[in-house]
Amino acid sequence: MLQMEREKNEMLLVEELMVPSEKVAHVQSGNPLEHALLVLIKTGYSAVPVLNPHFQFEGVISKTKILEEALGLEQFEMERLSDIAVHTVMDREIPCLKKDHTFIDALHKLIDHPFVCVTGENGEFDGIVTRREILKNVSKSYHESKNK
Ligand code: AMP
Repeated sequence: MLQMEREKNEMLLVEELMVPSEKVAHVQSGNPLEHALLVLIKTGYSAVPVLNPHFQFEGVISKTKILEEALGLEQFEMERLSDIAVHTVMDREIPCLKKDHTFIDALHKLIDHPFVCVTGENGEFDGIVTRREILKNVSKSYHESKNK
């Protein structure tokens, strides 16, 4: 990649790369797993952010985690899912970014996660940065540098 293209990417801020909160599917931490599974199936995502009633980021809930909870000794027992709240099984160890972090900060965190959440000073949920958005930028820079 040419130096200039590289520097252009490095200067990009998370604010310019993120999917804003109003376009992100999410569930509330107090929702039952049954509702979370419905949201995941309807949207087609494998995981979505979990927010509290103050719209602050709490964690991530995935189809895998929910299905693990539904798994009985010999079969799936889906009725279990209406009695378990999302916050009891969600993943809390999710790295977050701030809006003024850079493309490179996001790139590093997305190596191990399909998406990373963006939060404000008080933990409020601002949006997500996805691998797709990062790869789109890498691909654009690659083609621009090839055509120079
Ligand atoms: P992508 O890189 O676009 O495939 O997105 C990676 C992951 O980010 C998806 O599998 C979802 O878990 C999550 N994701 C992407 N877009 C959204 C969205 N609009 N709302 C909720 N989660 C999303």
